[in-house]
Amino acid sequence: MKSEVKSIDISGQKLLAMRDAQSALAAGASRVLICENCVVTPSARDFLAQHNIALVASGKALAAHKDSAPAQASGAYGSGGGAAQSKSAANPKLFHTPEAEAIKKEICAVGRKLWMRQFVDGNGGNISYRIGPNEVICTPTLVSKFDLTPEDMSLVDLEGNQVAGTKPRTSEIFLHLEIFKAVPEAKACVHCHPPHATAYAITGKVPPNLVIPEFEVFIGKVAISPYETPGTAEFAQTVLPYVKTHNTVLLANHGIICWADSVTHAEWYAEVLETYCWTLMLAAQLGVPISYISEQKSADLLAIKKKLGLPDIRFDTSRMKECQLSDLEVPGSIALTPSPCDGSTGRPPEADLDALVKSVTDAVMAALEGK
Ligand SMILES: [Zn+2]
Repeated sequence: MKSEVKSIDISGQKLLAMRDAQSALAAGASRVLICENCVVTPSARDFLAQHNIALVASGKALAAHKDSAPAQASGAYGSGGGAAQSKSAANPKLFHTPEAEAIKKEICAVGRKLWMRQFVDGNGGNISYRIGPNEVICTPTLVSKFDLTPEDMSLVDLEGNQVAGTKPRTSEIFLHLEIFKAVPEAKACVHCHPPHATAYAITGKVPPNLVIPEFEVFIGKVAISPYETPGTAEFAQTVLPYVKTHNTVLLANHGIICWADSVTHAEWYAEVLETYCWTLMLAAQLGVPISYISEQKSADLLAIKKKLGLPDIRFDTSRMKECQLSDLEVPGSIALTPSPCDGSTGRPPEADLDALVKSVTDAVMAALEGK
């Protein structure tokens, strides 16, 4: 059976807005003819895709999501515009499936967690989920992670072109996309600026290992990528040497990025790293050396980790050597025990240390005596 193709011609217009898309649907059209340089608003494009109405420019059929000049903010590279076409067309319908709706809600919940834990400030931080081979749902730019709603989300292809959603996607999406392209297991990325982990990132140091079991299992060795201007291609690519063997990377002078099999798990890694860095700093203030988990016991933790299917560069001894060598090439990125954070250069004066030990001992004794 042959279905009839009804076209609406608006090639005399420079803009295709939501009302035009709605008129096309009301008229029962299956195609909308537009001029070569017509700007299609994201909501109109989304609406047309949802209703299987094709966009045709200058006699050439376009996927509804690929207009020639989308009305959206441009990133510092790969404009997010229609010029950069991805190899296989992204499917905007994936933006409205029950799975997508659930992911959008999960992203909002994770956004609120990030804000409430003070891992993001202002409009900082961004979250993404790879819902298809060439489709990624992500947070918009210029919205606080506390205020996110499912309607704020964007859908982009792997080149960063926005294919659905009314708000412009985050300008830092390219960092996430590099990870999705490099690591097929990565389904979700969370980028944020938690203060204690970022403190490591601004000193160029990574936290030492073998101090707390959860950190070994969920994260393990952390890498640090060199500084580049956020939003640029160079910035996005700084993580590439590390992401296959690390699920968490410190971004020098910036923050962190974590990837996982779900948005919730990626946020867990941010929590684990932040708490770990914070605990190390608190321990450093005590002025007493940290005790480490023995190498022998650490093998148990790596075994648990392997069972969970989590990546760790320590699984491969040859690559572990590579990792150590590349660490040495980045100044200051070798694991170091943190120094006290009292503004001094070394250990606190002995008198302070004695006073601290005495006050802690007194408090413990008082508690034991039920005072
Ligand atoms: Zn950032």
